[in-house]
Amino acid sequence: MGLQYNIVILTGAGVSAESGIGTFRDGGGLWEQHRVEDVATPQAFARDPDLVFRFYDMRRADIQTKVPNAAHLALARLEREWQARGLGSVTLVTQNVDDLHVRAGSRNVIAMHGEHLSAWCTACDQRHRWTAPLIDRPACPACGAHNLRPDIVWFGEMPYRMADIDAALQAADVFVSIGTSGAVYPAAGFVRAACANGVATLELNLEPSQGSHWFDESRFGPATQLVPEWVAAMLG
Ligand code: NAD
Repeated sequence: MGLQYNIVILTGAGVSAESGIGTFRDGGGLWEQHRVEDVATPQAFARDPDLVFRFYDMRRADIQTKVPNAAHLALARLEREWQARGLGSVTLVTQNVDDLHVRAGSRNVIAMHGEHLSAWCTACDQRHRWTAPLIDRPACPACGAHNLRPDIVWFGEMPYRMADIDAALQAADVFVSIGTSGAVYPAAGFVRAACANGVATLELNLEPSQGSHWFDESRFGPATQLVPEWVAAMLG
């Protein structure tokens, strides 16, 4: 085996924007119709579960009508070909809760903020692939309890697989951030961790993100253009 070159990629809502899924803060974004504090916290769920179920049932139905774009497809191709050539690992950490990376063919995906197409039973702690609504309080296929909730990491909850992400960042040679505003922690801090480890850092975004100055290099433009270009250059 030759020299290994490990790639860690962080994606945010911007990578799915051109698939027609609204971003967090951009004009027409997610929170203009619904205030974040009304839907994305455990307190909101305790106070008004129907509102929270309706909101997530809508998103879950919506993402199933969307398809991966050229950026998702390029990242899947990078993973496939990088591995086939034995060049190293490609780890895709996503803040997105849509399933477009997986549908595009990416396999080594860490969905740190959960997934729309998953339901979590708080009675038996099992997770199930879920494409239907939850508002009618369906039974958990494993234990029969009616305690399913969206498998989404809400504000104030701990993101998933932080130890795996840490390990990937430790072993990385390059860290690439794509389509994320750098406003939501802990993901916004990954670039600083990468810098501290001496990892090369690159940002691909429509505009400078909040932590833009932390990156060795930034390229600005739409993900469907920048990501395929970067992948083509990586694969030579
Ligand atoms: P964000 O909305 O805060 O930022 C999106 C960033 O993408 C912005 O900097 C914007 O300039 C950039 N962008 C917009 N269109 C782009 C394009 N075509 N190409 C490249 N960049 C583009 O998103 P975030 O940083 O991911 O944080 C939002 C939070 O909301 C995350 O925690 C995520 O879980 C959640 N969220 C997920 C989805 C999804 O699953 N698709 C959608 C909205 C929000």
